[in-house]
Amino acid sequence: MATSFHEFDLIQWIRAQCPNSKANLIGIGDDTAILQPPLNCELLFATDMLMEGTHFTFPSATPERAGRKALAVNLSDIAAMAGRPHSALISLALPKSKGPEFAKAVMQGIIDLANEFQVQLIGGDTNSWDGPLVINVAIIGIAPESKSIKRSGAMPGDWIFVTGELGGSLPAHHLTFTPRINEALILNQTVSLNSMIDLSDGLTSDLQHILRESNVGAILDATTIPISNRLSSDDSNQVRLKRALSDGEDFELLFTLSPEDGKQLLNQNPLSINLTQIGEISSRLTAILQHPDGSQTTLEDSGWKHEL
Ligand code: ADP
Ligand code: MG
Repeated sequence: MATSFHEFDLIQWIRAQCPNSKANLIGIGDDTAILQPPLNCELLFATDMLMEGTHFTFPSATPERAGRKALAVNLSDIAAMAGRPHSALISLALPKSKGPEFAKAVMQGIIDLANEFQVQLIGGDTNSWDGPLVINVAIIGIAPESKSIKRSGAMPGDWIFVTGELGGSLPAHHLTFTPRINEALILNQTVSLNSMIDLSDGLTSDLQHILRESNVGAILDATTIPISNRLSSDDSNQVRLKRALSDGEDFELLFTLSPEDGKQLLNQNPLSINLTQIGEISSRLTAILQHPDGSQTTLEDSGWKHEL
């Protein structure tokens, strides 16, 4: 008789893969995990849920990559605050039809990325149903007291920077991107960041969050937007620019800082990825895109939003 594999077998398997590596916590196995907050640190909390059919589809994603993405998008939120990831809880709604190897593969994708970024998996919830795969990650990060970077600190005159290249994240990059944890930590140590956000919904849309929270506007220079070579060179420059501004799921960092600090970054980029100045914060409460011919258009918030 074939032995059946249950929720608790999976939890035992997960537990065996994730020995406690952090001294200040008790992880998987009890009703809750216990975390002793490190001294003089603030704790950062975020949660993000990924659903098959919306955030990934099979077979273009593998179960490992779906799991990986679920943790990676949460790591990206910690990066946006310039935090260091500490631990995470994983909740799964597993499709009954797919069986235990599929469940392990989803968790393996999560575990591998957790090991890469020294995130301890400290708990979660495991369910199965007749629906598609749903993965929820709750993440805990730490930052030295009052060192985390918010959306609300942008000031008129600030220079606006972005890491990496934008656009064309589908079909593969959104599953394999590197969360900019290390880059954010280096930037926060090198210069004084006034505001920061990670680019999940698209530059146009995510920039608006900084502008609204900071009560400022922006003027972007269209010629400086770093367009990814993931975008087809068959498309016109105009189409490529529009996609770089609005495709979303780039998971790069958008941040603002004083011109003095901006110049320092341009003189000596402390990162191993590109850093580009794309514009300036203004006191006029609009977001404007300046074109090479001198004309200006209002940046429309065309990024991805879930309809309710
Ligand atoms: P309870 O019934 O008290 O909620 P469970 O039996 O659901 O506890 O879970 C047992 C332990 O396994 C808990 O410590 C829980 O946090 C952990 N756990 C459950 N599912 C997962 C998962 N997918 N990943 C990591 N830990 C998990
Ligand atoms: Mg319990």
